[in-house]
This record gives sequence, C-alpha cells and structure tokens, in this order.
Amino acid sequence: MKLPQFSALILASLTLFAFSSSSAETKPADKKCKAQKEFAIILHGGTARAGKVPAERLDFMRNLLADMKKNLKQGDSALDVVEASVMAMEDSGLFNAGKAAVNNAAGFVETDAAIMDGKTQNTGAVASMRFVKNPIRAARLVMDKTRHVMMVGDRGEQAVTNIGAQTVKADYFINNPHNEPNEHGTVGAAVLDRCGNLAAGTSTGGYDAKIPGRVGDSPVIGAGTFAKNGVVAASATGHGEYFIRFNATASIAARMEYGDMDVSAATKAVIDQMAKAGGKKNGRGGIIAVDSQGNFAYPFSTPGMVRGFARYDMDPQVGVFEEMN
Ligand code: ASP
Repeated sequence: MKLPQFSALILASLTLFAFSSSSAETKPADKKCKAQKEFAIILHGGTARAGKVPAERLDFMRNLLADMKKNLKQGDSALDVVEASVMAMEDSGLFNAGKAAVNNAAGFVETDAAIMDGKTQNTGAVASMRFVKNPIRAARLVMDKTRHVMMVGDRGEQAVTNIGAQTVKADYFINNPHNEPNEHGTVGAAVLDRCGNLAAGTSTGGYDAKIPGRVGDSPVIGAGTFAKNGVVAASATGHGEYFIRFNATASIAARMEYGDMDVSAATKAVIDQMAKAGGKKNGRGGIIAVDSQGNFAYPFSTPGMVRGFARYDMDPQVGVFEEMN
C-alpha cells in the first residue's frame, strides 16, 4: 500500500524524534560546577605483592592526584575527572592498562574498561579491545555516542573506532611477557565532584596469560565498576571472576542503600565475603570507593593495593600496604 504523502511526513518526523530523544538521553554530564566546596578522588593501580613497593607508580599517582585535585576544584565533572585520570594511567606505561596491558595466552593484548555516571546511571564499557589506545575513552564514547552500554571484540572495536576511539599498532603496547606474576596493576578511579555527582571507571589488560576472549570484572557494571549518586562510586581490582560472581560493586551500593551500612563496612563485607568463598588462594582483591560525603574506603584481601586519594581538605596521599602517606 502506498502511504499518502502526509502520513509519510509524520512517519519521518516521528523517526527523527526517536533519534533526537535518544541522543538527548545520552548527553554528557554538565561541564562545570561549583555548587559545593566538597570534592574527593580516590584512585587504584591494582593489587600488589608482599614487600614490594612500586615506587614509580606511587609517585605517578601522587602527581596525578595533585593535577586532578586542581581540575575538581575548578569545577570539572566527576565523569571527566574519572576519564582523565584513568587515561593518564593507561598512557603511563606503568600499569596493567592501556600501554602496559599484559598479554593473553596467545601473546597479544586484550583490554577491558568501563565508566559510569552516578547522576544518570548512564554507563559505557568495552571488552577484548586489541588496538584501542585508551579503553576508558572508548567506554566513554560508547556511553555518550551510542544507545548501547557495552561493545566487545573485533566488531565492537570497529564500532568504537567509527565514533572516534583512537587506535594504535600492536607494537605500541609494551607487552609485558608475564614477568610479574600476581602483579595485577589494573587501574581505577572513583570521584565526587562539586555538583555532588559521583562517577567511577576501571581499565585493565585483565590477567596475564588469560584465555583469549576472557573478559574480567572491570567492564561489567556492578562487578568491577559502579556509581550511584547519593550512595557510592567504586572500582575494583583482583580476581575478576569472583567480583563478577559476587556482583561486588553493586552489592556495596545495595548494602549502603538498603542495609544502612557505611562505605567502610559495605566494602569490607564484600571483600571478606569473596576471600572467604575463595578459600586459600582465590577470590582476592581490593576495592576503592567514595561516598556522597567524600568518605573513602579501600579494603583489600591481597597483600597490598596501590592506591591514593585527595580531597578538597586533604593533600594527595598514596599507599600500598596498610599505611598511607
Ligand atoms: N580484575 C581484573 C580482571 O580480572 C584484574 C585485576 O584487577 O588485576 O580482569
């Protein structure tokens, strides 16, 4: 049946409307905000072995925190600061993310990342990326420029490249040849900005020698990455399979929102639960989190976790084992 011209016009405008309303939905967070003086940022650079202090990574993190503190003070959004700090760690060549992501069992890099906006619960993630320079940027593009949440593998990589993700040749990656057993330097950020918005992001090369195609917890929303305004922003590192099985970061939020736990009790409960389930060797890891008041938590069941934080009223502090300085 041939449509009368008038109904064809209505159909066309309806289609247009459908597109424009979906892009309005994925609008990036507000640019600048100074509604409150309080802001806070916590970062991690993965779990660490006993006795080993990765000084270079700690120095890098302290400087990065100082830069990000300035950005937050001048009103940058939590989302932008999460993206910028994770990107800097990806580019540094010091962590198992971006440039220094570890190899899989077949000898090449496959990276995973996610970013989440606590204000809108909007989120983007990528997994098994081989040539994307900054997986966290690709995750942000998925969030801002598509109506989807997660893009994976070769086709996902093509899609994020089409919307602006920068790619590199395989030789860009340092391709750490499994020389750091148990040294998993995944990176993550959790931020509270001066609008009171929370955001979180995580980026990783996953486990070295992983089976090609394996995806860890980092890009799985509610497992390795989660943010919800008024509650918590959190990013995890460690035995990803357990963080997925225990829905780790979302369950921190649930404990805080419905169970009345504070951020310290909720994060510790989840870390302890996974360590207990994992027996002697499995289920170990750490979580960084910040709540909507700017309180930090960073429990870990591994010997150490590289992490650091800064706040409107606090200079950057970094640490690996119990103490921070
Ligand atoms: N959680 C990451 C993964 O399982 C690895 C890590 O944080 O060390 O992919």
